[in-house]
Amino acid sequence: MGIKVAKFGGSSLGGVEQFQKVRAIIEADEERRYIVPSAPGKRHPGDHKITDLLYLCQEHAQKGIPFSEIFELISTRYLELSKGLGLSLDLVPILEDIREKILGGYSAEYTASRGEYLNGLIMAELLGYEFVDPADIIFFTQTGVYDPEETKKMVAQTLANVERAVIPGFYGSRPDGGIQTFSRGGSDITGAIIAQGIGADLYENWTDVSGFMVADPKIVNNPKPIAEITYKELRELAYMGARVLHEEAVFPVREAKIPINIKNTNEPEAKGTLIVPNGEDIHETGMITGIAGKKGFTIISIEKAMMNTELGFGRRLLSIIESKGISFEHMPSGIDSISLVIPDNQLDKKLEDIVEEIKEQLKPDTVDVHAGLALIATVGHGMARTPGISAKLFTALGKENINVRMIAQGSGELNIIIGVETEDFERSIQAIYYAFID
Ligand code: ASP
Repeated sequence: MGIKVAKFGGSSLGGVEQFQKVRAIIEADEERRYIVPSAPGKRHPGDHKITDLLYLCQEHAQKGIPFSEIFELISTRYLELSKGLGLSLDLVPILEDIREKILGGYSAEYTASRGEYLNGLIMAELLGYEFVDPADIIFFTQTGVYDPEETKKMVAQTLANVERAVIPGFYGSRPDGGIQTFSRGGSDITGAIIAQGIGADLYENWTDVSGFMVADPKIVNNPKPIAEITYKELRELAYMGARVLHEEAVFPVREAKIPINIKNTNEPEAKGTLIVPNGEDIHETGMITGIAGKKGFTIISIEKAMMNTELGFGRRLLSIIESKGISFEHMPSGIDSISLVIPDNQLDKKLEDIVEEIKEQLKPDTVDVHAGLALIATVGHGMARTPGISAKLFTALGKENINVRMIAQGSGELNIIIGVETEDFERSIQAIYYAFID
């Protein structure tokens, strides 16, 4: 029998009905042996996430402001869940203990982690699986850095003797025994760590969408789903703003070459998206995998005759921005020109200073600043070594009368990145989408 680790996000565990769907999913496949739940999420748009409410309680407690009304919302949610699911678990003393600890000054990390802890207890009884507290198997250093070596050992050793377990997401412990959480959305990471530690065949990540789409549905009407994507492609798209999975969740399973399947709790028959290692069996199909982009960039263009022969020009330019604590995104260049593409949020109020210093130190013929740039990445393994891809892409943009201000291509031919005016952002993504997908 294979091993699947299944992580369920907050939207899959909001209320009784969602828990019942989750139980049916787990019971439908006996390989789903290790279950990682998040805390209950929103049941409807105006609802609260339990984790948010817990943080709020802790903030109130810290300032000496009463928080019993907020805590009441939390208790009610869990008690309703337990009753609605017909469980015998008595949550009242456990909730009371948590409330007292928050009142007594326990940390924000401890408080936030109780959302997953309580959901784990509920899930374990509902399924008849063993409850394994991640505080006993997932470790951080005293300063809060995740410790993969100790964790891997302990996860493997502990779970080897447990055939089926529920392990709450989002937290572990520090050497002093204190609770440490991952960053928000971190249950994705827990799922990946468990999958790696136990050597799972598949890591299922259950959420409320049927996987990734080729483009953002807010921009392209009804975009096609992505059936299969490599870790590398995913990283490119995620970096450009596409987001379903916590970025750090990819590393443990990628290292162990375990595929991740993004699945939809509300549509379990849909195949979802399979994230796979970069295998040799990926064909150069001439197809793209996905399109994603970000707004908010500025381009600084510098021209100087005979720049190409001036020794150290690029280095001096980069040290100017480095000295201001700024990193660049792209650096397209010509014979006598070079440009830097920089995210606006890094520039802050430093732009004038930078331009002054470039003029002073590099004595260029011109320095030109153009704000309001958006970057769009078209990503796909299938594009590599396939002639005609960029022709197709730029023809589509040309037909729409879109001016391309910058072009960059990653060295693995995995992506083509373009810079366009912010107002052309949505139109560009649509044009690229329809050029490749019918
Ligand atoms: N419940 C935590 C959060 O809201 C962790 C998670 O859902 O993955 O961030």
